[in-house]
Amino acid sequence: MLWLAKHRDLREHPHKLLENCRTIVTLVYPYSAIKPSTPDGFSVARYTELPKTDYHNRLRRLGKDLAESIKKWYPGSKTRVCVDSAPILERSLAYASISGFIGKNNMFIIPDYGSYLFLIEILTSADLPLLPTSPMKNKCGSCSRCIEACPTGALERPFSIDASKCLSYLTIEYKEEVDSITGEQMGKCFFGCDICQEVCPFNDRKSAKEFVLPQIDEWLRMTTEEFDMQFGRTALARAGLKKIRSNIQALRPHSR
Ligand code: SF4
Ligand code: SF4
Repeated sequence: MLWLAKHRDLREHPHKLLENCRTIVTLVYPYSAIKPSTPDGFSVARYTELPKTDYHNRLRRLGKDLAESIKKWYPGSKTRVCVDSAPILERSLAYASISGFIGKNNMFIIPDYGSYLFLIEILTSADLPLLPTSPMKNKCGSCSRCIEACPTGALERPFSIDASKCLSYLTIEYKEEVDSITGEQMGKCFFGCDICQEVCPFNDRKSAKEFVLPQIDEWLRMTTEEFDMQFGRTALARAGLKKIRSNIQALRPHSR
């Protein structure tokens, strides 16, 4: 989590990410509401979109297509495409685009769609003509389902998150093994967490499960070579087999 503090300056000054940055274009791209699952009832976060390859490369390619067009329209301009790859206030920028609002769960929400969305930013030195806008008002109203449902208390209050308590961090980026208390809080999800999105009425769509993952015992027997072959190009590779296995070990005693 030191990363957040370390890059504060860059987040507040995008021209340090791209010289002469004049405009930031935000694109939203939906991900499936289908939850990648094991046949024995365990799952991972939806954004992994298994068995598809890691979203970073797929989305960067999409962003680059538009970035190339901007460079053609504005000869001499420079662009940089970001997909979780640079310290940038991506949700705030999406909010400024007026197509949605930031919910009490800190997610960017488009009212008619929900929050299962990837965000892509294109920084450009081109001075794109923009209409004056006013950001969308928050539409959570008196709802507080996400705060009540968060199993770790990471959503301490509306619009605020203690990321060090969030299961999305603890089960992916956190280098140590999670403890058994965290394992209990994880329920049956061993990579990431969708709970504060699942309970949100703006994501009120039927969300099926798709059995695209091996049974939980197979994960514990899997070799690194097998993992690399099956998941090496997916979002799961970000955590790696050792971390995933330790997550499973932590949640298993509580999930029977
Ligand atoms: S992702 Fe899970 S742990 Fe993190 S804030 Fe949302 S509900 Fe809480
Ligand atoms: S669950 Fe309710 S409070 Fe939380 S983001 Fe969705 S609408 Fe807002």
